[in-house]
Amino acid sequence: MDRDKILLTPGPLTTTLRTKLAMLKDWGSWDADFNAVTASVRKSLLAILHGQDSHVVVPLQGSGTFSVEAAVATLVPHDGHVLVLDNGAYCKRAARLTTLMGRRCSVLGFDEAAQVDPTVLAQQLQSEPSISHVVLIHCETGTGVLNPLQAVADVCAAHDKGLIVDAMSSFGAIEIDARKTRFDALVAASGKCLEGVPGMGFVFIRKTVLEACAGRSQSLAMDLHDQYVYMEKTTQWRFTPPTHVVVALHEAIAQFELEGGQPARLARYTQNYQTLIAGMAGLGFKPFVDPAIQAPIIVTFHAPADPRYNFKTFYAAARARGFILYPGKLTQLETFRVGCIGAIASFEIEQAVHAMALALQDMGIASGAPA
Ligand SMILES: *Cc1c(COP(=O)(O)O)cnc(C)c1O
Repeated sequence: MDRDKILLTPGPLTTTLRTKLAMLKDWGSWDADFNAVTASVRKSLLAILHGQDSHVVVPLQGSGTFSVEAAVATLVPHDGHVLVLDNGAYCKRAARLTTLMGRRCSVLGFDEAAQVDPTVLAQQLQSEPSISHVVLIHCETGTGVLNPLQAVADVCAAHDKGLIVDAMSSFGAIEIDARKTRFDALVAASGKCLEGVPGMGFVFIRKTVLEACAGRSQSLAMDLHDQYVYMEKTTQWRFTPPTHVVVALHEAIAQFELEGGQPARLARYTQNYQTLIAGMAGLGFKPFVDPAIQAPIIVTFHAPADPRYNFKTFYAAARARGFILYPGKLTQLETFRVGCIGAIASFEIEQAVHAMALALQDMGIASGAPA
């Protein structure tokens, strides 16, 4: 059967037929029709953030990480000092790319099962005045923990530090309002909660810091200031645009708006999340993260204690029933992850839970309960 499997992953995600169909067309990169699509996407993105007055948006070719790397290279001066708030795998990736970009980088570590702590951040900023920028991962996709963006932004504002937010897996689903929350840059991508296909990221940059970014990036391809200036001047992308990705995102955003925007998306994902948690509890599975700090984006579950459990077999058994699960990303504990995002509804989550129940049965496991 050639029917697509349902992706319960943090991206690429299950997309609608309408979004997929938008890609059945070739576009010229210099063509006015295509450039109008790019302009429309940028306008919509700024509206979702309520950032029309305060920020510009700069799209960039590549996966989401390319845009995080570009944001650091474009925003942080060569003699800047970045503090990464670390409570998971994507935080560690941000620290690594910052170091590779040649910027001084300090890491403030927190427990993977907890949020980052704005009070500890405030103390760190007091004791290390050389810090110029803070990097926060809004939803740490490695665990599913939602970090306190507003409180972190308030601390950064009070200490006059730049804030770079990786909102890759939250933008579009969790409310982010640039009128209330102060940040220098915020990064997201086409293939996450907006339910486009992967292939481009975008970075919102605060207008007041934009000018100082000129000539700062040591990379040509990752220079967001250069991309911005070129796009404003010509309406075109600087280098070959991911045309099919852009038109798919345009179509995905139209459906996002039709659904009711961010509040409606959050409501659907929350319903998916609650259906998942309830169904999995019925099978004995236990989530890793306290529900009080869990984003309704992706859920980490402990592996069952049963010695017959093995993720590869469990994955294959769920896959045979049409559902793609995601491996865990914790170093100490055996876990797996289930995404709640994408063009899916709670009845499909019910079916996914049923598929996992049958997968356990296949393996002769009576309960998903961890040790
Ligand atoms: C998806 C994601 C990224 C980008 O990952 P890519 O594999 O480069 O697309 C970055 N940060 C977070 C928090 C993410 O969820």
